[in-house]
Amino acid sequence: MLGDVNQPTIGVLALQGDVREHFSALAECGAKPVGVRRVSEFDAIDGLVIPGGESTAISRLLTVFDLLEPLRKRLRDGLPAFGSCAGMIMLASEVLDTRPDAEHLDGIDMTVRRNAFGRQVDSFETDLDFAGIEGGPMRAVFIRAPWVERAGSGVEVLATVPHGPAAGRIVAVRQRSVLATSFHPEVTGDLRVHKLFTDIVRKG
Ligand code: GLN
Repeated sequence: MLGDVNQPTIGVLALQGDVREHFSALAECGAKPVGVRRVSEFDAIDGLVIPGGESTAISRLLTVFDLLEPLRKRLRDGLPAFGSCAGMIMLASEVLDTRPDAEHLDGIDMTVRRNAFGRQVDSFETDLDFAGIEGGPMRAVFIRAPWVERAGSGVEVLATVPHGPAAGRIVAVRQRSVLATSFHPEVTGDLRVHKLFTDIVRKG
């Protein structure tokens, strides 16, 4: 932990996507959010959020700014991270239905299918149960979302789609201190996922 254990510094990858929404949610959870876009800034964070947006654009910008390898290394060294939607895609070890030149970060041993719900419906909301989070079902907003098609043996499945054509599909996972959701907890005002993540970061 770099500074005050109660107020960890959490970077939000600020290359593309819904950065501002994560800033507010993290601040409300007592963290100090900072935007990161340079290698030197990765050294000054206790945890990292990769926002929703467009994974192929995030991938291209990580490559252009030479951030890919430094970020992979920090994740290998145990940097806690949380990715929502495009952020989940970036944290995967394998991505289906993406561009052939798209890169990813290997933060979680999982295969993620990009735009997986798209054939049925682009965007939708549902209430789901999130393992380990109390207080009743969570409203989940999916926007051209991915799902987890394969979760490795060290990966905990935290939430699945409760009903409908995609029932049973995995939409939230955790491996050690890396967390990923297909949906966007930063847009609903429900802070429970960000609270879980800030607690993970506090425990280091
Ligand atoms: N479909 C987007 C992608 O491929 C993700 C959408 C989102 O983050 N809301 O990256």
